[in-house]
Amino acid sequence: MATETPREREIAAEDSIKVVCRFRPLNDSEEKAGSKFIVKFPSGGDENCISIGGKVYLFDKVFKPNATQDKVYNEAAKSIVTDVLAGYNGTIFAYGQTSSGKTHTMEGVIGDPNKQGIIPRIVNDIFNHIYGMEENLEFHIKVSYFEIYMDKIRDLLDVSKVNLSVHEDKNRVPFVKGATERFVSSPEEVFEVIEEGKSNRHIAVTNMNEHSSRSHSVFLINVKQENLENQKKLSGKLYLVDLAGSEKVSKTGAEGTVLDEAKNINKSLSALGNVISALADGNKTHIPYRDSKLTRILQESLGGNARTTIIICCSPASFNESETKSTLDFGKRAKTIKNVVCVNEELTAEEWKRRYEREKEKVARLKGKVDKLEAELSRWRQGETVKLEEQVSLVEGPEVTTPINVSVEGKLDETPVPMPLPATPGGGLMIGSLSNEERQKLEEERERLYQQLDDKDEEINQQSQYVEKLKEQMEEQEELIASARRDYEQLQQEMNRIQQENESAKEEVKEVLQALEELAVNYDQKSQEVELKNKEQESMAEELLAKQVALNNTASELQQLRDMSAHQRKRIAEMLANFLKDLGEIGVAIGGESNENLKIAPPESNGKLEEEFTVARLFISKMKSEVKNLVQRCQGLESFQVDCNKKVSEYEKDLAESRLLISQHEARMQTLTESMKEADARKRALEEDVDALREECAKLKAAEQVQAVTNKEKAEEKEAATKMRVALEEQMDQLRDAHQKQVAALRDELSEKQELISELKDLNQKFTLAHQQMQADYERLKQEEANKSVKLQELVLLNERREQARKDLKGLEDTVAKELQTLHNLRKLFVQDLQTRIKKTISAEDNEDDGGSLAQKQKISFLENNLDQLTKVHKQLVRDNADLRCELPKLEKRLRATMERIKALETALRDAKEGAMRDRKRYQYEVDRIKEAVRQKNLARRGPSAQIAKPIRAGQHHLSNVNAIRTGNRENECKNAFIDENKRIPAALMYNGYA
Ligand code: ADP
Ligand code: MG
Repeated sequence: MATETPREREIAAEDSIKVVCRFRPLNDSEEKAGSKFIVKFPSGGDENCISIGGKVYLFDKVFKPNATQDKVYNEAAKSIVTDVLAGYNGTIFAYGQTSSGKTHTMEGVIGDPNKQGIIPRIVNDIFNHIYGMEENLEFHIKVSYFEIYMDKIRDLLDVSKVNLSVHEDKNRVPFVKGATERFVSSPEEVFEVIEEGKSNRHIAVTNMNEHSSRSHSVFLINVKQENLENQKKLSGKLYLVDLAGSEKVSKTGAEGTVLDEAKNINKSLSALGNVISALADGNKTHIPYRDSKLTRILQESLGGNARTTIIICCSPASFNESETKSTLDFGKRAKTIKNVVCVNEELTAEEWKRRYEREKEKVARLKGKVDKLEAELSRWRQGETVKLEEQVSLVEGPEVTTPINVSVEGKLDETPVPMPLPATPGGGLMIGSLSNEERQKLEEERERLYQQLDDKDEEINQQSQYVEKLKEQMEEQEELIASARRDYEQLQQEMNRIQQENESAKEEVKEVLQALEELAVNYDQKSQEVELKNKEQESMAEELLAKQVALNNTASELQQLRDMSAHQRKRIAEMLANFLKDLGEIGVAIGGESNENLKIAPPESNGKLEEEFTVARLFISKMKSEVKNLVQRCQGLESFQVDCNKKVSEYEKDLAESRLLISQHEARMQTLTESMKEADARKRALEEDVDALREECAKLKAAEQVQAVTNKEKAEEKEAATKMRVALEEQMDQLRDAHQKQVAALRDELSEKQELISELKDLNQKFTLAHQQMQADYERLKQEEANKSVKLQELVLLNERREQARKDLKGLEDTVAKELQTLHNLRKLFVQDLQTRIKKTISAEDNEDDGGSLAQKQKISFLENNLDQLTKVHKQLVRDNADLRCELPKLEKRLRATMERIKALETALRDAKEGAMRDRKRYQYEVDRIKEAVRQKNLARRGPSAQIAKPIRAGQHHLSNVNAIRTGNRENECKNAFIDENKRIPAALMYNGYA
């Protein structure tokens, strides 16, 4: 086509839509389900025939399942490249049910030389073609990528543009207004753009498979070229469309919103079907392009100025038979559509002049013809018959009938399906002109209405974008709220946990306190008991001491008594000795006395005296012997007494010993006391003996007296002596009586003391036993007390700790309160700020738009509500946060550990990144080198050739490698779609402020 002459290019040619059909192989699930391959490809060289269920369909080309991507491209799409580069519009779209191979055909696997589909191949081919074209051609290639979902156009290169509108340019060619356009200068850039679009598409949806089967994706390549020599400009738009699945809703079993969605999608697809049917009919005056955005975008491609190829994709499986048939019917219908294609050329002034001349010529020619015809007509009217050879020939040259509508800008206007004039019966020129006028009016009206429609569309677009933004903000807020709520819930949980812990701790404390109290009470009781016991013990000890003292006293008394008795005994012995001595002396004295007496009274009786003396002497000797006996017996008795005394002392010793073993030796003691009693009795008996002896002695004395009576004569002599003896005896008796009395008293006293001693011993025993028990008790109590004190210590420690915790808590509460206060202040400030902002916005809005202010106010109130809620939540969170601060140290520790770990990982990552960067750089360098080499090679091969320019435009971010700088005014439809920054919603600011 590039070789076509300009003359040829000007002529619009009728061109039917090319429909090719591609069958994919049976897929795994179909094979598993046992579906049969139900299509037949009747053999023939043309490969344009397919039969299913006996029905035969003819298409421009039929691709069997084994057809390669390369084949499909070469035979179905390749020619489009040259068309687009020659200034024609082109469209390729894939139609078919889901998973029939549309995406496979259109995209395939980009980057895989075998599996890549039509789009990457076309892109590569376009650039390859350009590289091979004339040197003085400059190309501007820009691409757009958008999808149509639920009749909304979503820009895939700018996710914020979610509802673009379709407008008509001055030539009434529809285009997507505001769609992002990327200037590209190499296939790689195009692929990058495609990747970006695809990733954006992925981000926005959850189920990509479902989404892609319900949305139409449109990739638009806009190629403009300028001949730098003659400033001739050509432009071609190439739409590459991957339609949504054409299956019926019932099959997918969609329900609810999904059903709505499916209906909507099917609406756009059915609109496409309606448009195609209307076009195929050929008699319809109205083509419902405006029924959906899809059909509006494809308006030029269907029945307009575009070379269109429809690839209908089908499954060969029996399971999909009905869908396949309806797809094939769609293709059949589409095949009948005729497009009128022409080159999109911007004419130069010279060309215009030329065309003007030509048109003038034509007008002159036609005027001459009209003149001739009028002359002929007047001749006819005058009744003349004009000869055949004089008649003006009505046959016209082809150029006259070919509609060439050149727009003011020089673009060849499309010729929509010509509207046949209503055939008016008897219609003359008047009626024709009238109807023409009407038509013009109608046309104008329609124009106006369309304009209005477009305006409305634009408004809707703006509103929907605004709505989208608000929605986004809402979502953001909702997310924030959700996250806040989540945080809140987490915090709540944490708080609950902490509260529970606190509660349990409190309970524990309570229990502990109770236990403590109990213990304290116990302790008090015990200590009281101990005190009591101590007191008792003390009193006992005192008593004991007293007893001891008493005992000691009694012991000392006993000792004294013993001493006294010993002393008495001594005295008695002495006295006895004295007495005996006296007696002896008496004896002596008696002898001597008698002598003395004799000496004294020698004058009285010397003779008798001697006799008496001898008798006395005899008596005395007798007495002496008797006294001696007595003394001996007395001595024996005394020794016996001494023995007894010894025994007593022994017994006493035994007693002392048995004091330790009283309980066991009581019996023995008793026996001992008994024996002692016996001894006493014996002693008494002995004493009685002594008494008896004394009595004998007395008797003897009596006998002596008798003798004395008989010896009266002598008696008188001896009266003095007798008197003396009686006196002596009286003295002795007195002494003996005294002695006996004393001894008896002493004995009584002794026995009394003994009894007292035994009693005391008993008491002592009891006391010692009590003492021992007390001691044991005391010991036990001491042990208990020690245990208790240890427990108490622990409890006190616990209590202290608790006290500490309480203090900490109080401190935390204080800090939390402070924090809250500051937050409250901040919130106030913030709310004030917000209010002022809102006021400002409201006033601004009021000035601008009164209608919108209500909505704005509502929004603001909604946002305010939101804000309130958020602040509440925030407050709560802050409180929780404070609570959580207790947890902080633990977490901080963990965090530190994690940080360290992260650091380690980061360093590892950095290392890895650096390595990767180095690799990448090396790789990039290598790639650049190869690219450069290839380019050089290409350049060398084709010599001087066309260049691709990549102009900078305002609002375009993606201009990294600019080949040539052009100003933005070349691009007519590029307008910055950014919304005024000032109109941003306060909520957005709010969060910025908040953050
Ligand atoms: P659609 O876009 O129509 O929903 P896809 O293009 O995603 O369907 O195709 C569905 C599956 O079938 C994909 O895995 C694809 O690789 C495979 N497929 C489609 N057409 C062919 C073919 N001609 N040859 C081999 N596999 C194909
Ligand atoms: Mg697909």
